[in-house]
Order: sequence, then structure tokens, then C-alpha cells
Amino acid sequence: MHIGFIGLGRMGGLMAGRLIDAGHTLTVMDPSDAAVKTLADRGAVRAASAKAVADECELVFASLPSPQVVQDTALGSSGVIHGSKIKTFVDLSTTGTKVSVAVHDGLKAKGVAALDAPVSGGVKGAREGTLAIMVGGPKASFDQYESIIAVFGKLFFMGEAPGAGQTMKLVNNLISCATIAVTAEGMAMGARAGLDPKLMIDVLNVSTGASSATRDKWPRSVLPRTFDYGFATALAFKDLRLCLEEAEAMGVPMVVGSSVRQFMSITKQLYGPDSDFTCMAKTAEVLAAIDAD
Ligand code: NAD
Repeated sequence: MHIGFIGLGRMGGLMAGRLIDAGHTLTVMDPSDAAVKTLADRGAVRAASAKAVADECELVFASLPSPQVVQDTALGSSGVIHGSKIKTFVDLSTTGTKVSVAVHDGLKAKGVAALDAPVSGGVKGAREGTLAIMVGGPKASFDQYESIIAVFGKLFFMGEAPGAGQTMKLVNNLISCATIAVTAEGMAMGARAGLDPKLMIDVLNVSTGASSATRDKWPRSVLPRTFDYGFATALAFKDLRLCLEEAEAMGVPMVVGSSVRQFMSITKQLYGPDSDFTCMAKTAEVLAAIDAD
């Protein structure tokens, strides 16, 4: 099938690559020449706008950095809404429910279906096709394209309400970031007391403190001091902000979540928006007055 893909960053580039691996052809769009080149070298056709992608393809995926960019890409003056061929728009980005509802309603008025399909599993999952994909929106569209979306990983249909996938994703990222934050604090305290960080992780991974932070983040990006797990601090902060805003709108207090958002905000301030979110470990080291680097 000929498929559209908009946003070829850390995640989108790899997911688009998996569609090519599966035998599909692509029309792609990204303002970054470098991002497009990797896919163009594999036969993808470059389009100048989101509309131009939607003029060529009935199915269009997007993997974009912010809710506003997703909304503009879907409904803006050169958005997919003006495309002549598009039938279904699948947003793989983490945008929160508000934008999912706006995109769903805006596109529906033009006869285009929208699925929110945020993903979890990081660049490793995107590369290997082992992401969790949490889908909300019309079940008929999900059924129609299920086998294509499944090249990215394991699918979960969360419900027909637009944004159902987004809610699940925000819950996941709240828990994932909280786990990194509390691991960072515990590891900094242990190191300050003189324990060996590598040995601490070995202990935690066979103890009740084990988590995706101790199993993946520390061994891969914190212990080697590479801080290159593949998720920008600004994007993690965006996800926490969306989660807390939505919880607050529902009247759901988030005591731990508020602290984690502050922790991420301080990390963004100290190491910059493009830093890796595993830099939370460095923030905890600063607070513990450890000179680790
Ligand atoms: P990224 O910043 O690496 O990639 C975003 C891409 O979008 C870039 O290539 C950028 O040039 C492109 N872009 C920006 N504006 C655009 C526009 N108007 N039209 C077309 N392309 C545009 O981000 P990422 O890490 O790949 O994340 C993408 C989405 O996936 C985000 O919503 C993020 O929250 C989510 N996500 C990321 C990860 C991760 O581990 N990196 C994991 C799960 C979910």
C-alpha cells in the first residue's frame, strides 16, 4: 500500500522505516532534510506539506513533537484536512485528549477518520517493532488498518472515544517518569553514602525496587553516563504537563505527579530541552551534592 508519514524524528523515522521493511511505499514530510534523506534513500517520496501527503495517500501517519504541531498538521491551512485522497489519519504522537478530540471532530466534518495511537517503548521499540500502541477512535478504522499499524508493535484498542489512547499514554508516562525520578533520588542517596552505583542496580534488579528505570534506563544510559536513551526532556515534560492538566480538569489530585513534573522542569532548566530525560539522574546528583561526572 502507498502510505503517508509526517514527522520523521527519533520515533517517526524508525516507524516509517518499518513500513518500508513490510513492503509498503511512502510519501513523507518533515522540515528536516536529514530526517527525510534516510527515508528518501530507501525510496520514499518527499512532499512539501501535510496536505501534499494527504493528496497522495488514503492512510496518513504522524509522529510529531507537540500538540500544537499535530493540530496544525491535521487542521491547519496546509494540513491533511485539505488533502484529496486521505481517508484516515493516525496520530502516533503524544498530544493529550484535547487535541485528539479537536482533530477527530475537525476531520470527521470532512469525512476523514482519525485514530489517536500514541506509542510506548522508546527508540528501541520503534526500531524493533515492539512498541505498545494505544488506540482510540472509530473501531471500524482500527479494524481496517490493524494489520498495517501492527508492524510498529502490539496494539491495544482502548475505546471509541477520541483520546482514549492518549489517556492511557499519559498514565503510562506519568508512571514511567515517576519511576525514573524516584530511582534517581535513591541512587543519588546510595552513591552519596559510598555505595557502588553498578552494584546497587544489580541488587535492585533482583529486589522489589526493580522497574523499567533500573532494568533499562540505568544500564543503558545512566551508568555509562551517555544520557542518550532517546527521549527529550522537553517532550517528557510536555507529557507530564498534559497529564496533570487533564487530571486537574477531572478533579483528580496528583501529589506524586506534581513533584515529578517539578523534577522534570528543573532538569529541563539545568540541562536544556533537548537533553535526554535520563538527565533526571544528574539533577538528583546535584541535589545530593555528588560530583559524578
Ligand atoms: P523528535 O523531536 O525526534 O521528532 C519530531 C520530528 O517532527 C522531527 O523530525 C521534526 O523535524 C518533525 N517536525 C516538527 N515540526 C513538523 C511539522 N510541522 N511537520 C512535519 N514534521 C515536523 O521527537 P520523537 O522523540 O520522535 O517524538 C515524536 C512523538 O512521539 C512525540 O509526541 C513524543 O512525545 C512521542 N514519543 C516519543 C518517544 C521517544 O522515546 N522518543 C516514545 C514514545 C512517544
